Amino acid sequence: MIAAMEEPLVAEAQKGIFDALAEMGHEQVVMCSDAELGLKAIIGVHSTVLGPALGGTRFWHYATEAEAIKDVLRLSRGMTFKNSIAGLKLGGGKAVIIGNPIKIKTPALMRRFGQFVESLGGRYITAEDVGVSTVDMESVFLSTKHVTGLPEHLGGGGDPSPHTAYGVFLAIKASANRVWGSDSLAGKRILVQGTGHVGSYLAERLVAAGAKVVVADLYEDRALALAARIGATVVPADEVIGQNVDIYAPCALGGILNSQNIPELKCAIVAGAANNQLDNELVHGPMLADRGILYAPDFLINSGGVMNVYQEMLGYDRALAVQRVETIYDTLLHIYDTAQQERITTHQAALDIALARINATKLAATLRSN
Ligand code: NAD
Repeated sequence: MIAAMEEPLVAEAQKGIFDALAEMGHEQVVMCSDAELGLKAIIGVHSTVLGPALGGTRFWHYATEAEAIKDVLRLSRGMTFKNSIAGLKLGGGKAVIIGNPIKIKTPALMRRFGQFVESLGGRYITAEDVGVSTVDMESVFLSTKHVTGLPEHLGGGGDPSPHTAYGVFLAIKASANRVWGSDSLAGKRILVQGTGHVGSYLAERLVAAGAKVVVADLYEDRALALAARIGATVVPADEVIGQNVDIYAPCALGGILNSQNIPELKCAIVAGAANNQLDNELVHGPMLADRGILYAPDFLINSGGVMNVYQEMLGYDRALAVQRVETIYDTLLHIYDTAQQERITTHQAALDIALARINATKLAATLRSN
């Protein structure tokens, strides 16, 4: 017999994939396999309430398949909130491809992945994410029209990363304004973790704004090359957390803020591009607030890229895309005000706005169908 105290643990261990989908609210998860090409992909459609589920494809060497499933579920759910708070007529989805992109990514594999996207008939629309570039999207485009982040010669808006970086840059300025009463980043020490697409563009903007930028990457040669080009300094990837900086900008992978390392942070602001920075949003949002660290909700401030690909769907106009990205500054200040007035975390304040729009749309649809 199971002792009463053990029951919840046993129940947790017995939870299956459908329990996770029900808890997180996913509509559909698709497993895609082509053994010959070495393709193992998972597409997560979290919500299509506001429109087709749009979100990028991540190509990453996950240690286990369970880790990949967890990532696609968390990332696709995050896209629902991101697209909602950004005011886009898009639901949330995301895909992951399992494997080391440096070793196994080929145009044929990306084309095959595109066929799986096509099979969803537009319920899911893809784009770039970690490990995937505009060139890869060209391969995907050969199999499906449900793809964004295409190069300009194919009618696209190009790489969304500079737009993501611009939104994060504006969010860093808004956060500086909130903490120090001025937008100026001159002399501020800012650590950019991850010198990939977004991190590089962001670091460059920050240096141009007069900040003292420190960069780190798992592949240290990337960090060293960027630092030499823009005039930044480098710290080892495993020494990021204890760095004494004004602002920490996570631009690598998610789940990087947890109960072990939040007490060790030495910064006033966390504002970066990485998705799902809080390992557990219910626990780690309040932990940051208790430490007096201002947290800029990731799914709001990294929405510049998806705003750009949305513009691509409407008919690409760069000026309109930039205008939309610039709304992030005021939205973030509004969220900081709301969090303060309602005594909730900044993450919760952003989530409330995103959920309110989704629930209102759901309600309107129900009323129309009755
Ligand atoms: P990328 O693959 O170009 O770069 C990520 C970089 O992070 C790589 O250089 C990688 O080596 C490095 N990295 C991974 N783990 C690390 C660690 N522990 N410490 C230091 N460096 C590490 O990816 P990207 O497109 O720049 O995206 C970065 C983050 O921003 C991701 O979380 C992504 O989901 C998010 N994001 C990107 C966009 C976009 O437009 N590309 C939009 C929204 C959100």
